[in-house]
Amino acid sequence: KARIKITVHENGLDEIRALVEDEFPRRRAVFGGVDQALLADITASFAPPAFKQSDPAPYFAARDADPVFRAWTDTNVSAHRVPGYGIVTISLKAHGATPGDASGDQMRLVADLGEKYGHNDIRASHAQNLVLPHVPLADIPAVHAALKTLGLATGNIGLASDIIACPGMDYCALATARSIPVAQGIATRIEELKIEHEVGQLQIKISGCINACGHHHVGHIGILGLDRAGVENYQITLGGDASETTAIGTRTGPGFAYDEIVPAIERLIFAYLDLREVPEETFLEVFNRVGMAPFKAALYDAEARAYAAE
Ligand code: SF4
Repeated sequence: KARIKITVHENGLDEIRALVEDEFPRRRAVFGGVDQALLADITASFAPPAFKQSDPAPYFAARDADPVFRAWTDTNVSAHRVPGYGIVTISLKAHGATPGDASGDQMRLVADLGEKYGHNDIRASHAQNLVLPHVPLADIPAVHAALKTLGLATGNIGLASDIIACPGMDYCALATARSIPVAQGIATRIEELKIEHEVGQLQIKISGCINACGHHHVGHIGILGLDRAGVENYQITLGGDASETTAIGTRTGPGFAYDEIVPAIERLIFAYLDLREVPEETFLEVFNRVGMAPFKAALYDAEARAYAAE
């Protein structure tokens, strides 16, 4: 959907319409209805696995004994509808790494873990992470220990460094700006400041052009990389929401140069920390309560810039 507009733009609407009108009757003539066998195959592929009884005690004991494990499970393990099971999200967002990248060795490890502990099921999420959807709680300490051996145990799912970033100018021929280094810069800075867990749930999403493959419109903080007379310029949107309370983010104002965008995001995060009334109030809740003005001030006021630069 994102890219068809380029085809339409290059060929013209009339040409595309004529191609569709030409093709449609041909297809309709040979369309024999939905392939029921294929449909049954697909349905079978999504059948729930044979869940087994699992004693969750070792999981809770490991949480009590190991604060690192506990912190990781707080962010990366979600409740499963079957008692005794958990959903494990493997972060491909190590701070400073390319979002969504994994090496061959890491993928082999994840495959082994899926086979051994996860009923042979691995999912790739739209957030550029991997999910083991069915893991007995008792096995999660072993999964975590194995993930640690290859740098896959980052506990940041849903946090500020769990950034969705499109390939941008590093790999995409359509890009107008870089995305990956911006994501790396933000995640690295957040790690330096050690504020990620204090900040809590925050979705930052980055696209390297208007095609919006990084879903920036629905990021709590969205970043869109544009080309302004041959120079990268990053537009920020706030208040986007991809949950059931869906919302499209609102533009803050003028964009930022490449070397200004990480400090700008930092100012937004500190503005949020100042504005929230209780630690549980999320970035999005604060934005919906106070609106754009205080965030705009944090972004654009000269004083705010100078303060942050100190
Ligand atoms: S949003 Fe990113 S991946 Fe999508 S077309 Fe633009 S630069 Fe390429």
